[in-house]
Amino acid sequence: MKRIVIYLLAGCIAAGVLSARNRGVIDTSESPHVKLRSLDLDAVAWNGGFWAGRFEVIRNNTIPTLWRAMEDPANGAQYASFLKTTGRGGENLNVRTLNVWSDGDVYKTVEAVALVFTTTKDPAIDRRMDEIISVFAEAQEKDGYLSTPMRLKGLERWTNLQNHELYNMGHLMTAACIHHRATGKKNFLDIATKVADYLYVTFQPRPKRLTHFGFNPSNIMGAAELYRTTGDRKYLELAGIFTQMRGSAPGGSELNQSRTPLLQETEAVGHAVTAMYLYAGATDVYAESGGQPLLDALQRIWNDVAGRKMYVTGAVGNLYRGASRKGDNVHEAFGLDYELPNRFAYTETCANIANAMWNWRLLSLSADVKYADTMELTLYNSMLSGMGLEGQDFYYSNPLRRHGDELPRVVRRQDPPLRSTVLPCYCCPTSIARTVAGLKGWAFAKTPDALWVNLYGSARVDTDTAGGRFSLVEKTDYPWSGAIGFTVEKAPAGETGLMLRIPAWAEGATARVGNEAARKLQAGSYAALRRVWKTGDRVELQLPMTPRLVVANPYVESARNQVAVMRGPLVYALESPDMPAGVRVSEVSLSPGVRFEERFDKSLLGGVMVLEAQARLRPDGDWTGLLYRTLRPEPVRSARIRLIPYYAWANRGMSHMTVWIPRAD
Ligand SMILES: [Zn+2]
Repeated sequence: MKRIVIYLLAGCIAAGVLSARNRGVIDTSESPHVKLRSLDLDAVAWNGGFWAGRFEVIRNNTIPTLWRAMEDPANGAQYASFLKTTGRGGENLNVRTLNVWSDGDVYKTVEAVALVFTTTKDPAIDRRMDEIISVFAEAQEKDGYLSTPMRLKGLERWTNLQNHELYNMGHLMTAACIHHRATGKKNFLDIATKVADYLYVTFQPRPKRLTHFGFNPSNIMGAAELYRTTGDRKYLELAGIFTQMRGSAPGGSELNQSRTPLLQETEAVGHAVTAMYLYAGATDVYAESGGQPLLDALQRIWNDVAGRKMYVTGAVGNLYRGASRKGDNVHEAFGLDYELPNRFAYTETCANIANAMWNWRLLSLSADVKYADTMELTLYNSMLSGMGLEGQDFYYSNPLRRHGDELPRVVRRQDPPLRSTVLPCYCCPTSIARTVAGLKGWAFAKTPDALWVNLYGSARVDTDTAGGRFSLVEKTDYPWSGAIGFTVEKAPAGETGLMLRIPAWAEGATARVGNEAARKLQAGSYAALRRVWKTGDRVELQLPMTPRLVVANPYVESARNQVAVMRGPLVYALESPDMPAGVRVSEVSLSPGVRFEERFDKSLLGGVMVLEAQARLRPDGDWTGLLYRTLRPEPVRSARIRLIPYYAWANRGMSHMTVWIPRAD
């Protein structure tokens, strides 16, 4: 018996078990410049409903799919590069076609697995993570540097900023923090601190030749999170250096936001994923260090994105071949103001998710609902559209229109015409997996005397407040229904707030506590319900979910004289499998007074609320060989049409689809 105890103890020490405090997906529990603090990873569990369903898809389908893909050397292998580097396998790996950023996608998968573990506590998952982490440790070089593609390809360190060395090591740091919070172990975190110590030695002197390194700066969020995890301020200093170095000397490019220092930047430029990662990382730096000029710059850029460069789906990064006012050669990039093509929307899933990540961080700083609205818009629409309903096939681009044809690969280079499991790059699927797996950590936040609800979904939440534990059960069919109920299971002592997000679209929202009269709530605010709560208290929130027509700024040519249909946070789409026989998507127009009938169809697309309406039809006629013709009187008919949530499009084979539909005035 004694011997067993000793062995167990030895095992724990070997794996580096700590009695760590379980903290949030981002740990803002002590951030000095944050208003809303994240809850611990185990404070919230989905409990049926929409996000619980997506969480199960990630757990049961996406993660096994990603592992299979990453262990298959014929499939742009990723984990195989660790096996090959350590001499443990990967013999068939083609080093020539191995992506330089592939390590990062492996770390993102482990991060998703660790986040799933916080719900399942499955010991088999824990053991598997330990096995993989031991391979990471073996692959790490003596000085702390770690990039298996660089080593296998025999490339020299820090010679090409697009070698993604900082991207890989940045995701390593983030994943290690999450693993530590999820398991209490230090085995991955030790690898991360060695990486960060190496990066500190390399970058702290700010060597001139590395001024504009690197490309996708996941290293800023990674170093900031490592500071939050370890308390070692040199990692915060490192995150600050990464934020300020780009653009601090001539010779940079808008491609990776290194032409202009961030503090002087006035607009979102360049590669949209690198941009959003920079802005999100810089927001973490502000959360810890403050500095009004940095906050001012981030707000200028946010106003530019939300006011001129974002799709109605929350997607960003409109052009494969982007535009730069300063003449730089940019790709996968922001275009110019109001340049938002539908069919050619590049809108990489990673960029959209990073937009949500950035907005979540800005929400934490400010408690301003506009950030929560943007975050939610992106998550439900241009994040989920990156994944098939079963969570096993993926899109890189998320266009708003398709004419039933394959676009030239110059426009959508990475994507096959239909979502695919076999991809040249796994950045997007791993981004979706880790985001959905951790989303319960985004749903709530707290201030000392209040619990804040950012995202609605059936859940159980249990957290500390100034008055003690506050436990609630939330029950809702959101986003299909706007009825959201909370029951207090454990009430803190003294007056405590329940802060409910009322999205800007929710005009006419009401809340009722117990049998009291319903209260009207202001759209675009957090409604404060403050009182001394008792066990069993009930709150009924009603968000009006009436379908609405949305129009774009007249400067957005691609949406001119068109409407998009939204219901709650969901953008709707018209797709050819739902059209009446003989009617084309392009023939439909909607009058501003159109009435939608809402019907939940549980057998369609995994269960969705469809919107049905009588629409005007202007038959296209025969355009064979024609680009223009003289307008002649056209017969106008009408037909019953059905719209589906945009995220569920392209799950029924090749189709025609549009989000923007012409106005019939
Ligand atoms: Zn991606």
